Amino acid sequence: MKILVLNTGSSSLKSCLYDLGSQLPDNPPEPIWEAMIDWSKHTGYAEITVKLHQEKNIQEEVVANSRTEIIQRMLATLWEGETAVIHSPSEIDVIGHRVVHGGNKYQQSILIDAEVKQTITELAVFAPVHNPVNLEGIETTEKIFVNVPQIAVFDTAFHAHLEPAAYTYAIPMKYTHQGIRRYGFHGISHQYCRDRAAKLLNRPVTDLRLITCHIGNGCSLAAIRNGLSIDTTMGFTPLEGLVMGSRSGSIDAGILIHLLRQPDMDVEKLDRLLNRESGLLGISGLSPDLRPILQAIAEGNSQAQLAFDVYVHSLRSHIGSMIASLGGLDALVFTAGVGENSPEVRAAACQNFEFLGLQLDHLKNQQRGRDVDIATEESKVRVLVIHTQEDWQIACECHGYRQSPK
Ligand code: ADP
Repeated sequence: MKILVLNTGSSSLKSCLYDLGSQLPDNPPEPIWEAMIDWSKHTGYAEITVKLHQEKNIQEEVVANSRTEIIQRMLATLWEGETAVIHSPSEIDVIGHRVVHGGNKYQQSILIDAEVKQTITELAVFAPVHNPVNLEGIETTEKIFVNVPQIAVFDTAFHAHLEPAAYTYAIPMKYTHQGIRRYGFHGISHQYCRDRAAKLLNRPVTDLRLITCHIGNGCSLAAIRNGLSIDTTMGFTPLEGLVMGSRSGSIDAGILIHLLRQPDMDVEKLDRLLNRESGLLGISGLSPDLRPILQAIAEGNSQAQLAFDVYVHSLRSHIGSMIASLGGLDALVFTAGVGENSPEVRAAACQNFEFLGLQLDHLKNQQRGRDVDIATEESKVRVLVIHTQEDWQIACECHGYRQSPK
């Protein structure tokens, strides 16, 4: 079964192709083809990179007149030229699309039809940057892969079972009825980490209290009990919760009121300030990327140190809040760019939870490993580092659909 996955963003698009049998393998296999479009490098150009299994990358830079044309060109490398892995588009069995916002309506992945597309369009009011480009990916593949079933896999769906106490904001209920509530994001990654953690710990998901820490450019935590997300740090938008690379995370809403009253401020500027100019970048004045921050700390830069300290303070306090929602903790899971690669952040986050009997094995924490337990044997809480594989999670959803169409 050939499953094509598309993860369409505003400045980049990632796609991959899996070739699977009727049974899903225990460990995620390598895709047989991977491609990426990067629109962010030079204005007016897009860079297409195609990676073939165990072979070197093929790259080309093309004039970016129309995004759809570039996506078509990238997809054509599946069956054309030296990168070809299939003979024609008709060989694809099913296509999975990451869709950021599924609102209240979609609590699981769904076969895309005209009504689903309409709903994704309507939900763009909640996700103006993401849902329209997700839809663009869907409409482009629809034209190329005619009659191939397409599945929407939502970033919000994993958090669909939050209780009202966890999703309701304390504002007049008429706004809640308009859809202003906590949705939560990164659900595909949190779900993948839940299943992978259960596998690594050799315990059923229904038996575990987990906190999954997705710490990348965007950062969020999920509190998972009996396999369900019962609390999460991102909210109505992906701006709430943890301090992130360039996003502020949760701040006093009074600050927004104060800033909007200033004569030189407007909604667009505030949006940019909170989403692109804050977080690690805002405090350090250096970068949204943790690596140059750590480098600057080593060189004695006090602003970089403050940025790191605020980041860690936010991470610890939100982990504490997730523990309170769970009422206990069996495993703390670190994933995504920072979670997988920064022993400094993992050690700092864990340090204040030693009172729970959580003990990090500092040697294991320093070693680079994929899908490993870095707690000591005696630790009462397991600490896992898991390489998140959102594309694989999307492929698994599609595989389930093919086996038993919903
Ligand atoms: P996204 O959230 O966009 O998917 P990633 O999960 O790839 O992003 O995370 C990207 C971030 O991971 C970078 O901005 C950087 O801060 C961090 N990162 C990547 N590698 C390292 C590393 N070796 N040490 C510290 N941070 C890292």
